[in-house]
Amino acid sequence: MIKNAVRAKRFSYYFAVSLIGLLFGTAAATEKKPAGDQDKLPKAQQDARLQSHWGYMGIEGPTHWAMLSPQYMTCEAGSKQSPINIHAPRHSNTQETLAFDYKPTPVHVANNGHTIQVDYKSYSVLHVNDRTYRLRQFHFHDPSEHEIEGVRYPMELHLVHQDSRGHIVVVSVFLELGAANPWIAKIWNWMPKTTTDVSTPLFINVAEILPSNTHHYTYKGSLTTPPCTEGVQWILLEKPVQISVDQQKRFADIIGENARPVQPTHDRNVEEY
Ligand SMILES: [Zn+2]
Repeated sequence: MIKNAVRAKRFSYYFAVSLIGLLFGTAAATEKKPAGDQDKLPKAQQDARLQSHWGYMGIEGPTHWAMLSPQYMTCEAGSKQSPINIHAPRHSNTQETLAFDYKPTPVHVANNGHTIQVDYKSYSVLHVNDRTYRLRQFHFHDPSEHEIEGVRYPMELHLVHQDSRGHIVVVSVFLELGAANPWIAKIWNWMPKTTTDVSTPLFINVAEILPSNTHHYTYKGSLTTPPCTEGVQWILLEKPVQISVDQQKRFADIIGENARPVQPTHDRNVEEY
């Protein structure tokens, strides 16, 4: 019913546009916008145009992502997809130093329909050896997307960073069940139930969620959501942090399961530092 109504509306819209086109044919032709003009749309508007619906269940689920839109082809055709199962990682002889320089900032907690996401505005950076990446946003998955020797954690936090050339580094923090986590409690307090709710700003510092040491696994993979873009460096912190059973349940009640299954490793190197 609704679909038909939309179609009818669209049809009358196209009809009106065609009629105007016929009446003012010459003017319309000369004023026709040049091809590629949509590139000048604001970025958010372009993204909205390009995005197709996807999800974690049924016909919109992970095994169908590549069929939902030509933009999502890499989800199926890619050979360096994430997440993966971390199996027998290679101990690295070299050193990779991680230095987190995260600053407190006011943030809004958003529910984008796929996860709870917090965009980070303050200048907070991660140094990987001599390279610097700025923290853009963080979000959560239930259960964890990566597996360690075939085992999933109850949840996984993704801290998404980007450098000035657009290279993406995602730091994963595994969440295991135990004591309630005060940092998570602060965010959950403002967790919007729907995509239209917006939280009032709250003051947080991501540094507070980091585990006590930076031992990690690293490998080259992709975004774990459409369009599954590759070229992402993954840094999985080995030491999990605790959340309570109740905290996991609160997330599950609002978002539900939102983890892509593990993807073929295709002989990729996983290094342990
Ligand atoms: Zn993620």
